[in-house]
Amino acid sequence: LAEKNGELRVYYQPQVETESEDISGMEALIRWEHPELGMISPGFFIPLAEENGLIVPIGEWVLRTACADAKRWQERFGLNLRISVNLSAVQLRQQNLVQVVQQVLAETGLESTQLDLEVTESINVKSIPNLMETLHGIRELGCKISIDDFGTGQSSLDYIKRFPADRIKIDQTFVRNIGVDPDDEAIVRATIGMAHSLNRAVVAEGVEIEEHLDFLRAQGCEELQGYLFCRPLPAASFENLLVEREKVFNRLPSEEALP
Ligand code: C2E
Ligand code: MG
Ligand code: MG
Repeated sequence: LAEKNGELRVYYQPQVETESEDISGMEALIRWEHPELGMISPGFFIPLAEENGLIVPIGEWVLRTACADAKRWQERFGLNLRISVNLSAVQLRQQNLVQVVQQVLAETGLESTQLDLEVTESINVKSIPNLMETLHGIRELGCKISIDDFGTGQSSLDYIKRFPADRIKIDQTFVRNIGVDPDDEAIVRATIGMAHSLNRAVVAEGVEIEEHLDFLRAQGCEELQGYLFCRPLPAASFENLLVEREKVFNRLPSEEALP
């Protein structure tokens, strides 16, 4: 009903490039705006939608909405921002997932290289038949794959080696303890080192304070996401953010030209 009544929203949270701190992409995060209960977080209703199977149509709706918004922003601002969309294990079990992604790209006109699909590390790999084939199929379309919540699942190193991912997202539980717990700092450092040795890029989630940023920058983490930069925003506010960014970037060269 929430879907039919138009109560679902996609919010967008920027991901920034560590060196420049300029925006490089955004993660699509679903919200349910209930007329009486107010905003319901995905942590609450996604597990229910996974249980009853509704995550399949909901996930497809998020994918279509996010790709359409990304395409519109690409046309308006001329930026090739990457759009990251979360995939549930239930969606990965659908035999037609690759075709669904291909169809959404065709419908929305978004370049496949701009789409990144996030798969959480905590999925039970053995419960998903053909997982590797599906992920390879998605990559053959030209899309990227990220391992979400890295460090919280039970993946073996062998599995990580074989998992066809372009990026690893370090989970917020480790990032939060930078400057607090030297063991978590060691895990972050080791994860970045391992990811780079395996030719994967690294994104840190839950970057909240300057100390996190400084540490992650010193360790060579490529991209950052967190409240320090921006909270997840409704599409209209996210678009305003891109307008503001454009103003800053258009103003700088002319200002520099002044005597
Ligand atoms: P996730 O994919 O790991 O998303 C990151 C979560 O961290 C988001 O929570 C985001 O709002 C939050 N976050 C971002 N920066 C910070 C920060 O600096 N500090 C803190 N404390 N939190 C931060 P959110 O939006 O509540 O989403 C929770 C989870 O729900 C997501 O975790 C994802 O697993 C799931 N989810 C959200 N949207 C979708 C969706 O469209 N499909 C599926 N299958 N799952 C989704
Ligand atoms: Mg995610
Ligand atoms: Mg995560």
